[in-house]
Amino acid sequence: MIGLLLLLVVPPQVVVIATPRGLTSVPVSNDRGGAAVAEPLLVAPLGVSLVMAGTRATVTLGGAGFVFELGVPYVSAGTAVCPLAGEPYMARDTLYLPLSWLAECVPRALAPRYRWDAAAARLDVAAPSLPRAPLASLSSPNPMTGLRQHHTIVIDPGHGGRDPGNPGRYFSEGRTEKDITLAIGKLMRAELLRRGLVANLTRSTDTLIDLADRAAYCREACDLFVSIHVNAMPPGRHSTRATGIETYFLSEARTEDQKRVAEMENDAIRFETDSPRLPTGGLGTILKDLQLNEYLRESAQLAGLVQGAVAKVHPGEDRGVQQAAFMVLTTARRPAILVETGFATNQDDAAFLASALGQRKLANAIADGVVAYLLEFERKVVGVPGGAGGGGGRGR
Ligand SMILES: [Zn+2]
Repeated sequence: MIGLLLLLVVPPQVVVIATPRGLTSVPVSNDRGGAAVAEPLLVAPLGVSLVMAGTRATVTLGGAGFVFELGVPYVSAGTAVCPLAGEPYMARDTLYLPLSWLAECVPRALAPRYRWDAAAARLDVAAPSLPRAPLASLSSPNPMTGLRQHHTIVIDPGHGGRDPGNPGRYFSEGRTEKDITLAIGKLMRAELLRRGLVANLTRSTDTLIDLADRAAYCREACDLFVSIHVNAMPPGRHSTRATGIETYFLSEARTEDQKRVAEMENDAIRFETDSPRLPTGGLGTILKDLQLNEYLRESAQLAGLVQGAVAKVHPGEDRGVQQAAFMVLTTARRPAILVETGFATNQDDAAFLASALGQRKLANAIADGVVAYLLEFERKVVGVPGGAGGGGGRGR
């Protein structure tokens, strides 16, 4: 009997964090400086963001901040305080956290997406369900879109103010990229409102907003973020040839062309007055962020649906879904994409982008892609508590 009890309380040697993108093993230590401890200690998992300030450690997981104080058996998450069975401590460069944080506090704070399976010593992280304003379900689907829930979209017209964006070689009347992106953004907002969605702009006038601040417009009650831009080829023999539409999601660039576009768009930072607030550790660290990774797949799916819809109406080439490290997308905590709506260095693209009809077609097509994504999304979350389950729903 005693043996059985002992067996049941044998602490795990390793804890597994299972996310939609794969498994991470986190070592567990049962002693501290050679002496056994009552509560197993977890090496602060890789992939969570960790900020140390004196004896205070802030760990961000799943969008929630957990504040630890070294030597204190409590952790606070927002206004809630969670008791721990042991104390967090530092040894060399490693932060050790009591296992009860992951086994008890995290699942409680982040339910239902995070579930602790004690038998398997495993934390299961479900695919992201987009947080939304409380109970936004409609009793019946919107007749225009088929959507069953309220959705909020943040539209980001690129550049603005003293940052003109690309000079718009073939635009007339001194117009530049910033004018085109604002025009398309406003039309897109009007179209989404017409279809019963909520849409907000990061800017509705000719002003400059810092790259790091743009995605912050898409927080709690926001479902996704769309940044709008105009492409340009550097001067050269074939610079006027490139045409067409491409849609980006945040990831590391794989091709020279993807790098070129990211560098062009990230260059906007030189117009910002404050010193550049590059994320500490650079883009590479950000890309490893556990929570952000969960949104990558969603962002890629959103990009695919938007690209497909826009390619149908665009006179230029279908350049497909692309990936690169855009500053403006790194601060997004929702599915986020950047649409390069065409080339200002190509005469046909520029004429389309500058025309009222072209702008309307682009705005409506991006809206089509957004609605298609949200329909897919609602189908996925039907039946999930807090999801679209109330109305019975489709899918399952
Ligand atoms: Zn741009």
